[in-house]
Amino acid sequence: MATDSSYRNFVPPHRLLMGPGPSMVHPRVLQALAQPLLGHLDPVFLGLMNEIQALLRATFHTHNEFTIALSGTGSAGMEAVIANLIEPGDRAIVGVNGVFGTRLATMIERSGGIPIRIEAPWGTTIPLDALETELVRAAPVKAVVLVHAETSTGAWQPLQDVGALCRAHDALFIVDAVTSLGGIPVEVDTWGIDACYSGTQKCLSCPPGLAPLTVSPRGMSAIRKRRVPCPSWYLDLSLIADYWNDHSRAYHHTAPISMLYGLREALRLVHEEGLPARTARHQLNSDALMAGLHTLGLHPLPPPGRRLPMLNCVTLPDGIDEAMVRTRLLQEYGIEIGGGLGPLRGRVWRIGLMGESCQHAHVLTLLNALETICASLGRPVQPGRAMQAATDTYTQSPESSRRQA
Ligand SMILES: *Cc1c(COP(=O)(O)O)cnc(C)c1O
Repeated sequence: MATDSSYRNFVPPHRLLMGPGPSMVHPRVLQALAQPLLGHLDPVFLGLMNEIQALLRATFHTHNEFTIALSGTGSAGMEAVIANLIEPGDRAIVGVNGVFGTRLATMIERSGGIPIRIEAPWGTTIPLDALETELVRAAPVKAVVLVHAETSTGAWQPLQDVGALCRAHDALFIVDAVTSLGGIPVEVDTWGIDACYSGTQKCLSCPPGLAPLTVSPRGMSAIRKRRVPCPSWYLDLSLIADYWNDHSRAYHHTAPISMLYGLREALRLVHEEGLPARTARHQLNSDALMAGLHTLGLHPLPPPGRRLPMLNCVTLPDGIDEAMVRTRLLQEYGIEIGGGLGPLRGRVWRIGLMGESCQHAHVLTLLNALETICASLGRPVQPGRAMQAATDTYTQSPESSRRQA
C-alpha cells in the first residue's frame, strides 16, 4: 500500500473547545511542548520537576511533600489513588451522582475493596448527613471518596466539612478534583483531604497526559503500611515517590518530558493570573453564559448554589434534536460542546468554560451561534437577545467596573 502520497501533513481545523474537556491551550504551553528533550535524570530536568511540585502545591493549597504530576490522564490519577489506598476487604464510602462517582465505585471493586455507594440523583450533590450515617453504620470505613466537580452533571459538591467528619471516624478523605482544579478553589490542607488528583486537560488548560496528584502524610503512611503490594506496578505510588524524591531519584519509568514542560508553563500561567482572579473569571463567564442560555429556554440541571462555573450543564426543551444542533455548531461554527452521558443522554448539553476556553468572546460567539441555529429551526427566539443578556451580565459585574476604573 502506498503511504507516501495518502498521508498528508495534518493541520487540525480551528476549533473553540467548549465541551467537557480537553480545553484550549495557551500558545506559551504549545511552545513549551515543542522544546528539545532532556534526559529524565538530567539535573536541569530534575530542577524543573521540583518547580512543578512547588507550583502544584500552591495550586492545591497544600504543604504535602508528595505532590507530583503522575503519567497518564485524570483517570490514571483516579486509578492510582484507589489502587494504592484501597486494599482487599477495605470498605470505602463513595458518592455516586454521576459518571465519575460510578467509575470510582468500579475501581474500588476492582481493587478488592467494598464500595458503599451513597447515591443521589444526577445533577444533585451528596448530603453531609448521609455520609455521617454511613460512616457510623458501616464502620470501620477506610475512606470516603467524593467528586468535587461532577463533569457529567455540572454539580458542585461542597467539601469543606467532610474532612473533619472523616477524621472523627478515622477514615481517609479522597477527592476527585479533575475538573475543579484551576477553576474553583481546591483547599487540600484546610479541608483535610488525604488524597486529591486532577487532570491537565480541564481548567489547567494543558493537553491531556498528566494527573496532578497530592497525598497527605496520613495517606502516605496508609500506603507504606499496606498488607499486600499495590496490584498496579506502574501506578505504585511508593515506587513513584522514590523518583520524585529529590534525595533518591530512583528510575521507575521514563517521565513524559515534554508533557512536564507543558504543565510547568500552564501552571506558571495559572499563578501569573492568580487563583482568586481565575475563580472570578470562571464565575463571571459562566454567569454571562447562563443569562444568555436562559433567553433560549435552557436552564441549569443542578439546583441553585450547586452549579459549577466551568461545566454548564443545561436541560433541553422538548423537541430539540440535540445531536443535530451539536453537529451544526461544530460544522458551521467550529464550536465543540458536549452532550449528556448515561441517563442524561439526549437530555442535556454540557458547555465547558475551562481555563483558556473560558473567555468573554467565546461566550458571545457560542450564544450567537446557538441563537441563530435555534431561529433556523423555527424556535421562538428574539435575535440578539441572548448576547444582550450576556453583555448585561458583563457590564453589571464588579470586574467590569474595576476594568473601567
Ligand atoms: C475528565 C474527568 C476524569 C477523567 O479524566 P481523563 O483525563 O478523561 O482520564 C475524572 N474525573 C472527572 C470528574 C473528570 O471530569
